[in-house]
Amino acid sequence: MGLNNEWMQRDISVLWHPCTQMKDHEHMPVIPIQRGEGIWLHDFEGNRYMDAVSSWWVNIFGHANPYINQRVKDQLDSLEHVILAGFSHTPVIELSERLVKMTPDPLTRCFYADNGSSCIEVALKMSFHYWLNIGKPQKKRFVTLTNSYHGETLAALAVGDVALYKETYQPLLMDVITVPSPDCYYRAEGVSWEEHSRQMFTHMEQTLAEQHEEIAAVIVEPLIQCAGGMRMYHPVYLKLLREACDRYGVHLIHDEIAVGFGRTGSLFACEQADIAPDVLCLSKALTGGYLPMAVCMTNDTIYQAFYDDYESMRAFLHSHSYTGNPLACAAALATLDLLEQGNVIETNKALSAHMAKATAHFVDHPHVAEVRQTGMVLAIEMVKDKATREAYPWQERRGIRVYQHALKNQAMLRPLGSVVYFMPPYVITPDQIDHLASVAWEGIQLATRD
Ligand SMILES: *Cc1c(COP(=O)(O)O)cnc(C)c1O
Repeated sequence: MGLNNEWMQRDISVLWHPCTQMKDHEHMPVIPIQRGEGIWLHDFEGNRYMDAVSSWWVNIFGHANPYINQRVKDQLDSLEHVILAGFSHTPVIELSERLVKMTPDPLTRCFYADNGSSCIEVALKMSFHYWLNIGKPQKKRFVTLTNSYHGETLAALAVGDVALYKETYQPLLMDVITVPSPDCYYRAEGVSWEEHSRQMFTHMEQTLAEQHEEIAAVIVEPLIQCAGGMRMYHPVYLKLLREACDRYGVHLIHDEIAVGFGRTGSLFACEQADIAPDVLCLSKALTGGYLPMAVCMTNDTIYQAFYDDYESMRAFLHSHSYTGNPLACAAALATLDLLEQGNVIETNKALSAHMAKATAHFVDHPHVAEVRQTGMVLAIEMVKDKATREAYPWQERRGIRVYQHALKNQAMLRPLGSVVYFMPPYVITPDQIDHLASVAWEGIQLATRD
């Protein structure tokens, strides 16, 4: 029995994997990874896999990056963790200073959590609690877009709208207001992304006009609804939303957990609309994909509504054990160094253009409805019928065929349903992009053959 198999067996005996029907592993083995290096993941028997999905969208500078490694090692020798209530440490202070400097001006405060979903919980509680503190307890509802995703904890799930994850738990979830997404996949023929996104805003405008008195905040994933199938929209929607939130006295929460730190082509997606949200949620690439950490950034107006004598009972009494963990902060500081020193946003432009070029012919495939791209995310939508855009029945799991083909060809492509996508670490090379494109093409051929 080979080493891969041995670890596989031991895994299957004791683990329960995330987002997985464990029975699938009877015919689709778990792949044990021995080590990572740059864009590559290596198993125990000499096979390697190009990490085309950045290990669930977290890794931006490659695995075992020497620079980040060193920074974390140095931190490990001086302080691994300390309680962040009443105490502090240099990595969290430096990181907060840098985040405040690099995000839009109104965002001046950093509140830490230890994963993306918790960060969403923080944002929702903070918004509701702000309105409570200023004497508007009736503002307690949240507006979300169809097909959005904000994580798996109960409140995060409630403001999400991906049925696959949400439906089962519906009886446990708070009631939210769901507005049609500006998703440009559904634009009419001949209509531009901008026009479509603008048109779709009328739904949001109407909801806010009618219900703003009971609404605390609108939460959106700016520009890309990632878990919802890498569906994309135009920045004009964010601009209109910012204006409307100001007009109606409603908070705007940006969940940039997946898209922050350069993914959309700008450092933060909100920059493309030239706006600042009231609350900005960041995680995933924040630590370069090294350690779990999230930060909920907000402005002085919100911060000041909590600032009072203790007896007023206005404080934000929220915490997580590992809040502001120094090792995670060290990884984040090293990641920000690499982002700033490497001229990354510029170099990514060339890589994005190369991804577009390498997949330009995919639109002609008889089962590809759309190839769409925003910055360093490129998605290919497979459909049963190109003319009507009829989707493949989900039970057919076409995406898995692409996944399995890719594994045999040194690539880890992990489609979302029938959407094949590239969301690679920024250290990918043009040659590697070409390889991914050819593997994806063959995979799509195989997956759509019958
Ligand atoms: C991944 C993700 C989350 C949840 O983050 P976790 O760390 O997985 O809990 C929230 N929002 C968006 C947009 C995400 O992509």
